[in-house]
Amino acid sequence: MIEIPRQKPTFRFAPSPNGSLHLGHALSAILNHDMAAEVGGNFLLRIEDIDQARCTPDFETGIYTDLSWLGLSWQEPVRRQSEHFPAYQEALQTLIARGLVYPAFMTRGEVKAKVAAFEAEGRSWPRDPDGTPLYPSDDRDRSDAERQRLLASGMKHAWRLDMERALKAADAPLHWQEGGDGDTGAIPADPAAWGDVVLSRSDAPSSYHLSVVVDDAVQGITHVVRGLDLFHATSIHRLLQTLLGLPEPLYHHHRLLLGNDGKKLSKSLGDTGIAEWRRQDLSPAELRSRISL
Ligand code: GLU
Repeated sequence: MIEIPRQKPTFRFAPSPNGSLHLGHALSAILNHDMAAEVGGNFLLRIEDIDQARCTPDFETGIYTDLSWLGLSWQEPVRRQSEHFPAYQEALQTLIARGLVYPAFMTRGEVKAKVAAFEAEGRSWPRDPDGTPLYPSDDRDRSDAERQRLLASGMKHAWRLDMERALKAADAPLHWQEGGDGDTGAIPADPAAWGDVVLSRSDAPSSYHLSVVVDDAVQGITHVVRGLDLFHATSIHRLLQTLLGLPEPLYHHHRLLLGNDGKKLSKSLGDTGIAEWRRQDLSPAELRSRISL
């Protein structure tokens, strides 16, 4: 069972150490920190490093250096996801036991080819809110016997949520309370728009969606403050929280910063990297003003 601490308002900044932090991260971190301070709450830091192939100790060190330079401090200990794989596995096992997830054997290439062949006939394959094609139904439709045979053969696989079954099991319209820079109030969740999402990858024993809901519960997060790019992902998080019996935090999805090219900032930085500001002897106050804080 996941133990859920009862505590005061608790916020978290949860970067992935797969690149250097940029001004968008600064905005997110400062907002979390300042909102926590305003209500006398906790500000926690979580390192989302389940993707061990892309996350590095150097990027992680950079996160601590950049945040300290910004004048932020957080409560220890920092939660590093790579140290908690058993917790995510336990949550996954709960869902497996309830028949709500299935092993997914198709490779990215196979999915791509299937979608391309379908679309070559002038039809359009359904896509999720991020524009990624939904996972085909082939693996969901397999018999139990065939699943067992493929698993026993040692074939590489991920675990995916059976969205239809999951929605039935949740058995209620889902909402979340939103207080951010986009739509606010009670937002109806639409997890079905994401299809059968991955909960555990073939190359990592968890996924972003699964670990984020487990960690928000374990860390007693009451307020999730993050960018509007994750607004729609909240639908999945509410569904998983409901299935796993986890508490519902309040959400605040904040504005995104755009680069000079009008695009969302990415980790390929240029002058938008926090470290670059430091190197140019600019002050944290100047940075705050650049991001209109
Ligand atoms: N690790 C995610 C990111 O760096 C943030 C996850 C979250 O705040 O829920 O974009």
